[in-house]
Amino acid sequence: MTLTTLFTRTAVALCTGAVLSLSFASGHVRAAESSQSTTQGGPAMPSRGDAGPAVVRLQQALAARGIAVAGGVTGVFGESTSDAVASLQRQSGLRASGKVDARTAKLLGLAPTVTVTTSNLPAFGSTGDVVWLLQAALQEQGVAGAGEPDGQFGVGTRAAVTAFQSRRGLRASGRVDEATAVALGLIPAPQKAKVVTAAAAPAKPAGGSFPAYGERSSAVTTLQQQLISAGFTIEGGATGFFGPRTKGAIEALQARHGLAVTGVVDAATASRLGAAPAPTPAPAPAPVAAPAPAAIPSLAAFPMQGKCWFGDTWHDPRSGGRKHEGTDLIGAKGLAIYAVANGTITRTYEGLALGGKSLRLTAPDGTYYFYAHLDSFAPGIGAGVAVRAGQVIGYNGATGNAHEPHLHFEIHPGGGAAVNPFPYLKAIDGCKNTALLPQ
Ligand SMILES: [Zn+2]
Repeated sequence: MTLTTLFTRTAVALCTGAVLSLSFASGHVRAAESSQSTTQGGPAMPSRGDAGPAVVRLQQALAARGIAVAGGVTGVFGESTSDAVASLQRQSGLRASGKVDARTAKLLGLAPTVTVTTSNLPAFGSTGDVVWLLQAALQEQGVAGAGEPDGQFGVGTRAAVTAFQSRRGLRASGRVDEATAVALGLIPAPQKAKVVTAAAAPAKPAGGSFPAYGERSSAVTTLQQQLISAGFTIEGGATGFFGPRTKGAIEALQARHGLAVTGVVDAATASRLGAAPAPTPAPAPAPVAAPAPAAIPSLAAFPMQGKCWFGDTWHDPRSGGRKHEGTDLIGAKGLAIYAVANGTITRTYEGLALGGKSLRLTAPDGTYYFYAHLDSFAPGIGAGVAVRAGQVIGYNGATGNAHEPHLHFEIHPGGGAAVNPFPYLKAIDGCKNTALLPQ
């Protein structure tokens, strides 16, 4: 695989999310997207004359490659889309047919992609996309000698696997066993049997009322968090006050699900948000008993100086079978990047293949926050340095395979798997704060 091809694959991976965030932050478009077929065989590629979410995704992918579709992202595959596809093909040395064939789809990160599972772990001597994923993960981990991914599991890859295993205290076999694959983030950690506690059990209806317009309560906060998690924007975040913005989000939810658009939380509306109880005859006013997402700390500070934009691109497909594990905050190069919590900078990376200049901030409870694509670290920032929430730790940039300046931000509660940062960012959205936080 050439460097150019690699760049293309990874750049599309990061930038699709960015552009999506910029232009398609509304729940409406995301709803359309999520309805798109993503079956194992992959969605059929759109062709001239088609309209719909697959075309939206194609146009976004083109935009992410810096190829303008005249008229913008319309969801309609007309002449301008065909022209844009042809330009991409010309740029990439493919035949400029304007049709989304298999190679073009792959180039755009739209082709069906493989996922690593316990049954297809890459092995020495094998080739293909799972090997490419392994190599990309090794490179992303900064393993010395990982080299550029080429999809071929040779001696170099085996040496890199061994080096990674030694570093992580795993058996240094050079073989990608399950533990190694988990450590590399290629497969999820096996689920431990869940201890069913009262808190983890499905919420039982504790009372009859749903939050109403004008109310200020923890039940409203819960409702707002659910709306935000479901992708609806509530400007100002989960404030606990049921005002016009919350009503607007409820209306959007109702419209999306074909319910009567009243802005009032009734049983049907609540059930669409999950976990909300049906009303019971008992009149006792009690909060909607849906637990707030457990063990995820709220952020003490927003990670980026405004003006910025972000959308919910959690688990959006990325090339190479990866899923987006964070939120991309898009803003001008040089904007301040802030610590979101009191903690310690536990790791800095000068140049990850994907993440570029990156760092890890770890809070006392073990939760860590991963920041990528920084232009530079703030003076004095390095591994072992204690920081406080709101402190400038770096500056926004486009290092690594970022097509435009943005911060890729991840949350790993307790040091474990990443969770969707979007609702936590949305709850304290600081994108309009252009003034530097007091330092
Ligand atoms: Zn990202």
